[in-house]
Amino acid sequence: MTRKGKAQRRVKDWNSRFRKEAPGEFDTPEWETLLPQRVKIPAWRDAAQQAEAAGQRTVGMVMGLFPGGVFVQTSQGRLQCGLAGTFRPPKGSSALVVGDEVALALALDYSGDPDIHKQRADGFILSRQPRRTLLSRPTPISGKLRDQYDRENFEKVVAANMDVLLIVASARQPAVPAALIDRFCVIAERGEMKPAIVYNKIDLAQPEADLVAELTAGGLPLFFCSAKTGQGLSELLDWAKDKRIVLAGPSGVGKSSLINALVPGAQVTVGEIRMKDQRGRHVTSTVTVYQLAGGGVLVDTPGVRELALGISQAELPAFFPEIAALAGQCRFNNCSHTHEPVCAVRAAVESGGISPRRYESYLRMLDTIE
Ligand code: GDP
Ligand code: ZN
Repeated sequence: MTRKGKAQRRVKDWNSRFRKEAPGEFDTPEWETLLPQRVKIPAWRDAAQQAEAAGQRTVGMVMGLFPGGVFVQTSQGRLQCGLAGTFRPPKGSSALVVGDEVALALALDYSGDPDIHKQRADGFILSRQPRRTLLSRPTPISGKLRDQYDRENFEKVVAANMDVLLIVASARQPAVPAALIDRFCVIAERGEMKPAIVYNKIDLAQPEADLVAELTAGGLPLFFCSAKTGQGLSELLDWAKDKRIVLAGPSGVGKSSLINALVPGAQVTVGEIRMKDQRGRHVTSTVTVYQLAGGGVLVDTPGVRELALGISQAELPAFFPEIAALAGQCRFNNCSHTHEPVCAVRAAVESGGISPRRYESYLRMLDTIE
């Protein structure tokens, strides 16, 4: 009994801390700033039952959450939806997140005019499709949140069904270390998203030719641009237009500037200092979705910018594609590719088949995992 009370208090503390600091991060009324924690959605009971029984069905993608429901982009426009009484999301992870594909029943009084009205639901969520990819926040290794968000019981998902993790880097101000790019690539692989890289600030400096050659050889889409001069933006936008993209990268590389340059009217505050919590960690509380002209979306979440790896040593090799491809040829099937005899990975590093720099990154990441 006491334990339960204590656990609930922890959740409350967490909510108040994160909710309190969430507003004001982006002052863009056209785009929702979302709280990605689980929301309690009250049923609009009668309307929901009627819609379920007789309402026209449609499908769409979750674009945002509000306390009490979700916004869904459909062929009829963006609808404000509650949950149908029969909606049963699979247990074990966040019920609905940005990017989820859902089926819904239109409210009987739905007029065909998706004007957002706080008191009325345009439709009711009936079901959610399985997620193709997910960006999730790993369980904290220690601290207050651990028991609530123990990964075995509950996976906290930030966004679902995103195609690409777009890693924003710069060669100067700040000079982003290649190892950090590798780390974001691992995060992308973990979520089954494709990594892609954009070097911003090329008006200041270009990344080194060796690194560019290596990244290109790895087959990653690679762009160069300057949010300041506009160079390279049209190519980036053309590639991005129909994709579902999550932005990642350390602060200062120009993510906010890029959003402003790519999304007309976005008006993200540039150069803001991100809020920190009492322990000095960055607060990761909001998800903002921008729609791209070609049907794609750009998802910005401070969460991914600071995302921990959240994987074990044994899992790590699987997230380096070039290592994973050779692992089957090692003598031991649990080979860590560090010291074991007859290791195909180490052989490939020596013969040049695997980039020594990437292998070095792998070793360093192994070290940082407990
Ligand atoms: P974020 O932290 O990744 O969102 O980065 P911001 O968009 O806030 O940009 C950080 C700083 O870099 C700001 O002072 C921007 O004006 C500047 N900046 C952004 N893009 C460019 C660029 O392409 N060239 C130059 N020279 N500065 C840029
Ligand atoms: Zn090996």
